[in-house]
Amino acid sequence: MSAAEKYTVEKITEIQRWAPNLFSFKTTRHPGYRFVPGQFARLGVRKDDAIVWRAYSIASANWEDHLEFYSIVVPNGEFTTELAKLQEGDELFVEKTNYGFLTTDRFECGRDLWMLSTGTGLAPFISILYDFDTWEQYERIVLVHSVREAHELTYQEEIRSFGWNELFAEHAHKLEYVQVVTREAVDGALGARITELLASGELEAHVGLPISVEHSRVMICGNPDMVEETRKLLTTRGLTVAKRGKPGNLAVENYW
Ligand SMILES: Cc1cc2nc3c(=O)[nH]c(=O)nc-3n(C[C@H](O)[C@H](O)[C@H](O)COP(=O)(O)OP(=O)(O)OC[C@H]3O[C@@H](n4cnc5c(N)ncnc54)[C@H](O)[C@@H]3O)c2cc1C
Repeated sequence: MSAAEKYTVEKITEIQRWAPNLFSFKTTRHPGYRFVPGQFARLGVRKDDAIVWRAYSIASANWEDHLEFYSIVVPNGEFTTELAKLQEGDELFVEKTNYGFLTTDRFECGRDLWMLSTGTGLAPFISILYDFDTWEQYERIVLVHSVREAHELTYQEEIRSFGWNELFAEHAHKLEYVQVVTREAVDGALGARITELLASGELEAHVGLPISVEHSRVMICGNPDMVEETRKLLTTRGLTVAKRGKPGNLAVENYW
């Protein structure tokens, strides 16, 4: 396949800077680009005479005519150093193929959906929340966003807006949004790492909902240490990773 057949050239249409090292951006979306909420795209930026590619979860709804991504800026990171320089109107390359298995169609008939994220690992869950099927399928939806400092609690307005957006009004009561801030005390937020909150039972007590093999479907995304430790903890409680043709209750995505 030639390079031109492998990717499309899109344009950045909007940039939101949350903090010096965190930003979101929207791009045009090729009409042929398809994805399932929770999946990731491969994005390319030009560096010297080459294109550098990285995986990026899609944060936007699959019915929107744009794509949205949420990015960290890694100091001296090959990709993010270039990405952070881009302005509205600049070009970005998007591979035509959509990737990934952090999707609710991995699961069969759960009652409660848990989405556990650290940092930019929130992104796929925003897309999943924009998917009406999620709200129809589950009775309870728990979104946990764990960060180090309060200013990293991004997308708060979007998450809370499900409560007053009339498209979601019928189901809005199902969502429990749990903020976790590990390096400073913040009113209303839990103050320990997701793994500690699970091991101690504090997370489930806070939400008022136990995690069980029968009812829970758990998605985990972000920092690989958190993902691995959480997977192990939940595996000891009988949950299993969902695989093609073998339904389970866990779906995980590591960012590095
Ligand atoms: C499936 C998948 C989906 C991803 N989705 C996203 C996304 O939606 N948003 C996003 O910002 N990144 C995402 N990443 C990470 C992304 O692909 C790059 O690693 C990141 O953009 C940094 O690229 P870099 O070349 O600047 O640094 P790299 O050389 O790729 O990374 C250098 C180091 O930076 C740290 N790092 C990398 N990514 C992150 C991160 N997201 N948060 C905190 N520390 C990090 C790690 O320690 C890593 O070893 C995803 C990765 C995978 C595998």
